[in-house]
Amino acid sequence: QGDVSDSVELQKDKLLGGLLAGGFDERSCFSRYHSASYGKGLSGNPSPYLISRLRKYEALHKECGPYTESYNKTVKDLRSGHVSDSPCKYVVWISYSGLGNRILTLASAFLYALLTNRVLLVDPGADMVDLFCEPFPHGSWFLPPDFPLNSHFSKFDQKSDQCYGKMLKNKATTKSTVPSFVYLHLAHDYDDQDKLFFCDEDQTFLQKVPWLAVRTDNYFVPSLFLMPSFEQQLSDLFPNKETIFHFLGRYLFHPTNKVWGLVSRYYQAYLANADEKLGIQIRVFETGTGPFQHVLDQILACTLKENLLPDVIRKGDFVNSSGKPKSKAVLMTSLSSGYVEKVRDMYWEHPTATGEIIGIYQPSHEGYQQTEKKMHNQKAWAEMYLLSLTDALVTSSWSTFGYVAQGLGGLKPWILYKPENGTAPDPACQRAMSMEPCFHAPPFYDCKAKRGTDTGALVPHVRHCEDMSWGLKLV
Ligand code: GDP
Repeated sequence: QGDVSDSVELQKDKLLGGLLAGGFDERSCFSRYHSASYGKGLSGNPSPYLISRLRKYEALHKECGPYTESYNKTVKDLRSGHVSDSPCKYVVWISYSGLGNRILTLASAFLYALLTNRVLLVDPGADMVDLFCEPFPHGSWFLPPDFPLNSHFSKFDQKSDQCYGKMLKNKATTKSTVPSFVYLHLAHDYDDQDKLFFCDEDQTFLQKVPWLAVRTDNYFVPSLFLMPSFEQQLSDLFPNKETIFHFLGRYLFHPTNKVWGLVSRYYQAYLANADEKLGIQIRVFETGTGPFQHVLDQILACTLKENLLPDVIRKGDFVNSSGKPKSKAVLMTSLSSGYVEKVRDMYWEHPTATGEIIGIYQPSHEGYQQTEKKMHNQKAWAEMYLLSLTDALVTSSWSTFGYVAQGLGGLKPWILYKPENGTAPDPACQRAMSMEPCFHAPPFYDCKAKRGTDTGALVPHVRHCEDMSWGLKLV
């Protein structure tokens, strides 16, 4: 018989089929090994090539991570503006934007690092250390406090001389001189020169630069799929193009014990015992104070039409059903508490047509986005994670908060269309083509022909998004 906790199968499950490396101290980060016991294995299997590349990456990180001999040498070169032949080149991710955005951009930067044999180092910003466990077994992914560029991060912009787009405008990218570092501006307001990052020719130049610092608020992975130089690697890494964020996200993002407490207590108290779990993520981008009637109408129209929630019987008395009724737990997340109250009342005041019992739960209602408050983002992260643990998910258009939940959960959500002029759209929602996030600000440029093109019409697996007509997503 033996101890089940030692069984090979269970160990494999715990490590998500080899996606995760062994060898961590379990107590330092419970979520890494316990997520599998919340009924969420992976959707599909990571390719053996992805697994081997992750192990290779971990070895590189061990060699080049903070305060290693190679790191110290490359940092010394950075201070002196010197470029020598170091085995270690880096992508430095600058903390920027809301939490959902940050999770998507960090995954994008990691994939870029993987493709270009660079080491990813993370600017911890105000709260990254409180939110995420270390993902790599040897060496931290956080930049040390004495990293020479730390105090410059907030000042880098498109006008900086080290900005790649600015360098192109200044014709400062000659073949003979290689700068020791370049700032990549890949935020939503980037210009045509900044966007040349997505051209192979420009990658040939960037390849030689030891330090690349990137600021972005976009999931830029779809455009990497349009670059011939990465094509073969990407298709070997991800034979199924729908699971890129799913695998990278489950590899990289493990809630700290503090956040895992928020996740597991909530899950055990309100979700674990239900027969079915539905997640509804409400993100309202309209100005003015909600809750809005048209948003409530839209939520109900979508969930009823798609049979995600049962209708109620508004006339008639209490019906006694024998036996234990089926139960459904609905996890609603929103900055406002108005929606959950209305839906909860509806299922309290009336019986359902199916006899199901519906419980409606909302972990927090923080009112408005408070990026600098510690507990605020811990709750936001816990809520994204809880949404990912549901069986079916409804998300709001344009929201990276929802993209993270769907991607981690391996769920193809129903997306609520964006309301226009204060009215609920009809139809209210649409099933997503894939679980991948949408790249909101992709370039529309043909690097070879040097002219504009519709990048959503070049290959079958990179398409325009359901919720944003100009966005790009992998399907
Ligand atoms: P996006 O703006 O929807 O793309 O998502 P982001 O996560 O990038 O930024 C929104 C921020 O607002 C989050 O990081 C949270 O701080 C906050 N927020 C938005 N919706 C919710 C919610 O439902 N629950 C909580 N706790 N915070 C939210």
